[in-house]
Amino acid sequence: MNEIAARWAAATKGPWRVGNGEKESFYTGDNTVVSTNRVIVERAIYNNPHFDNQTIADIAAIAAAPTDIAFLLQRLAALREMLRKHVIEEWTKFDLLGRGRQMYQCQVCGEVWSDKEKHASHCEYAKLLEEEE
Ligand SMILES: [Zn+2]
Repeated sequence: MNEIAARWAAATKGPWRVGNGEKESFYTGDNTVVSTNRVIVERAIYNNPHFDNQTIADIAAIAAAPTDIAFLLQRLAALREMLRKHVIEEWTKFDLLGRGRQMYQCQVCGEVWSDKEKHASHCEYAKLLEEEE
């Protein structure tokens, strides 16, 4: 996650778009990806529809990448925060069998533990949070 975010923080700021021959795209055509201040990628077109169509599809994907990835990172961060809140913070506390022993039920996996830290090392969702850090 952090590597992906760092890679995109270092890349030319988006949005990127496919060139359309206008001044804003440095008079480049649909075989380019441009930002507001530079050409990101320019690819030769060979007048071979099969090859060129794939190039144009690749260029469209590259042009959308900064916006798409920023959106996905933002959504992922929000989902991670929701998951973290439910796995780590919002436990259901109860007294097991009325014996005065405090137990906690994870709201995500449903398991009951007496120790939140021990649960975190067993819960698949808690592990997912650690792996993604
Ligand atoms: Zn759990």
